[in-house]
Amino acid sequence: MAEVISNAEEVDVLIVGGGLSGCATAAAIAAGGAGRKVVILEARAGKNPRFNGELIHPTGADVLAERGFLGPLHEAGGADVSGFACVREVGRPATLLPYREIAGSRPHGFAIDHHDLVDTLRREVLRRPGVELRSGERVVSVVRDQERVIGVTTASGTVLAKLVIGCDGRHSKLRTLFGMEERATLLSFTAAALLADCELPHPGFGHIFLGAWGPILAYPINNKDARTCIDLPADMDRGTEAVIARIRSGYLPFLPPSVKSSLLRALDAGEIELAANYSIRTEECTVPGAALLGDACGCSHPLTATGMTVALTDTRLLGEALAGIDLRSREQVDRALEQYQTRRYRYVRAREVLADALYEVFRGVDDGARAIREGIFRYWGSSAGSRARSMALLSGHESRLPAFLREYLTVVGMSTSSVLRGEVNEPSLGGRMRSLYGLGKKSLEKRSVVARGVREGTIR
Ligand SMILES: Cc1cc2nc3c(=O)[nH]c(=O)nc-3n(C[C@H](O)[C@H](O)[C@H](O)COP(=O)(O)OP(=O)(O)OC[C@H]3O[C@@H](n4cnc5c(N)ncnc54)[C@H](O)[C@@H]3O)c2cc1C
Repeated sequence: MAEVISNAEEVDVLIVGGGLSGCATAAAIAAGGAGRKVVILEARAGKNPRFNGELIHPTGADVLAERGFLGPLHEAGGADVSGFACVREVGRPATLLPYREIAGSRPHGFAIDHHDLVDTLRREVLRRPGVELRSGERVVSVVRDQERVIGVTTASGTVLAKLVIGCDGRHSKLRTLFGMEERATLLSFTAAALLADCELPHPGFGHIFLGAWGPILAYPINNKDARTCIDLPADMDRGTEAVIARIRSGYLPFLPPSVKSSLLRALDAGEIELAANYSIRTEECTVPGAALLGDACGCSHPLTATGMTVALTDTRLLGEALAGIDLRSREQVDRALEQYQTRRYRYVRAREVLADALYEVFRGVDDGARAIREGIFRYWGSSAGSRARSMALLSGHESRLPAFLREYLTVVGMSTSSVLRGEVNEPSLGGRMRSLYGLGKKSLEKRSVVARGVREGTIR
């Protein structure tokens, strides 16, 4: 081992994974100190065959703009996204949640085909001085100096670095190699399809259609096409034919005509992509000499389009922590990593809780969740301020857990009055009692999440 290490190449920063997080991290680190040599090791030689995220909230788009990526991404064909249109039942008017109602926020998010996103970021990051991307280099182990991570090994050999950053996605090898624990739950899976030449009912908006087993998301990905992501049960047959049959019978009836006809064309051609939806939670993302970033730190159900906005915010936080420090000083590096870890979890906890809560509510899994769904639509209908507060949480503009709890409890209050008036679920006395019990249980669960955050110090 000593010989391997003495002959090994050494760089300043090694990034494992050349997806969205890896490229944006490389740009952030290169910007934080002139002359830094940053090498990205990417396992795949070609495109990632897995379907991945495409819709980015304004907070994430801000980071792309700061790094000079947003202009080239527009040139690559991406589309601005103005907010969300939520459709409770087909035929009923949508509730519009525009980003522009959030005070101080960029008025648009952004969406683009994921392959075009990664291709553009890779091309652009290579223009930064000191950044190199090596494809076909799968990291299989890490090199340590006692407790400290000082490099990685691939089939081509060992590369040492003053700092190693794992951007290797939700099934991160580095997370395992660093010995970090995770809580992973398979929630459901997504069937994604291109909606060619599809004009969405509210052009420029991401749409959420409710009523089927799981929510259906549809958003523009360029100036003529849209994408739909359909949430399906985790335990169903995942053969393409079975999935297409289930979408035809259980989901198409909940879509408006323009989306339905585009989706039908994709289904007739058998053109769907499948991806599993996990909730993965971690409690730590740094060890001496190394950090994780993006999905490698965990992920949520994709309905709330949380992943890339969180990943981009991670890159901003890590870039800020490392800006101007001397990477040769282990002490300075570890202090910066500690700062990154604290700020990251403060930011991310509200988004994780919100993603879980919205998925549960939009699926309407039980009486409590269905009552909250009723309350949330009433709340959004009540004022621009209530919509703006919800959207600030959804878009990552607001990241304080107490703000989430305040919103949640307000919605629970509205849901309670709907239940008492018999407007939701079973209007019988027994039905109302079940709904009230469900509402009480859910608010207690959310209060205890916030209380845990206070104990852990992740609440500001
Ligand atoms: C169905 C679905 C829909 C989604 N929709 C959205 C959405 O609309 N909006 C949103 O914000 N998020 C969405 N997400 C989440 C989003 O895709 C992720 O947050 C985002 O891709 C994370 O980027 P990343 O770079 O951290 O990880 P990844 O995109 O997974 O990239 C990891 C990279 O690391 C490489 N790699 C892995 N292992 C190694 C190794 N050992 N050595 C070297 N390289 C390695 C991989 O090849 C890959 O290139 C969705 C996710 C799914 C599954």
